[in-house]
Amino acid sequence: MDFVVFSTASLPHIHIGRSEKMKIARVWNDKLGDTYGIISEDGNRLVSKSDFQEQTGIPIPHSIKEFLFKGWIDEVTKNLPIISFSHQVEEVHLLTPIPDPSKIICLAFNYYDHARDAGLAPSDEPVIFIKPRTALNDPFNDIICPSFVKRLDYEAEIAVIIGKDVKKVEPEKALECVFGYMIMHDVSARDIQFKDKQFTRGKSIDTFAPCGPWITTKDEVEDPQNLGIMTKVNGEIRQNSSSSKMVISIKNIISSLSRIMTLEAGDIISTGTPAGVAMSMKEPKYLKDGDIVEISIENLGMIRNRIVFE
Ligand code: MG
Repeated sequence: MDFVVFSTASLPHIHIGRSEKMKIARVWNDKLGDTYGIISEDGNRLVSKSDFQEQTGIPIPHSIKEFLFKGWIDEVTKNLPIISFSHQVEEVHLLTPIPDPSKIICLAFNYYDHARDAGLAPSDEPVIFIKPRTALNDPFNDIICPSFVKRLDYEAEIAVIIGKDVKKVEPEKALECVFGYMIMHDVSARDIQFKDKQFTRGKSIDTFAPCGPWITTKDEVEDPQNLGIMTKVNGEIRQNSSSSKMVISIKNIISSLSRIMTLEAGDIISTGTPAGVAMSMKEPKYLKDGDIVEISIENLGMIRNRIVFE
């Protein structure tokens, strides 16, 4: 078993450098309001939309979706070397990066190690369910769990953000429609999931899709099929794997899904979770009130959420 040893402290240094490489976050604070900005290479500083506009004279749009998907990125990246990152990231609340995706598609059992632990043979075609956008949550907000849920579980996942509308795309061209990547926590109420024998209800509860901390453009991710993935609960490592263990690769997921439905700019595809979830343990350590779940993915950063039972 070749586990990947990985911690946020040893995240590889990311170079924004020339153009096209960027991290974009939605942020809020009293002064800035609800806006977005570009995150510095080290992940600690931020230039807000309005500061960027002031510094460069480029009238970038109010809506983050327009900024991301209407061709502004190239022009903005050209100016990155001259801008000054005027805020500390800790001054702002990071918000869910895409506020209103037309859909959030999630894969089930798409890691060899997770499928093995669940006693299932991996599928050769994507097995999917949809999470509603009302489940979206900010990267450091509480996960609010209804009191009737008795078996609450965590699932660390790489989420793909689609950058342009696409239908029936071949695998070789599928990555061209990817805008970037982020972390998704596919929070799961196992008791509901298995009672229903389908996944949607147990994974649709409001706040059950924390994601972020920002969007990392695809150019910053050299190989999305080789990223370390780690989940800690109250500091204890629970998941420690790699996207190299994904059954259906990202390009094949996109190609296959695009034969079923039109993928639209801003859509989120969460690519499944590796081994280590509570339900696969001999004595499952389900999440309790007050637990802190921290998910780190190489190149994509870290999100951390507290569990609060209603
Ligand atoms: Mg999942």
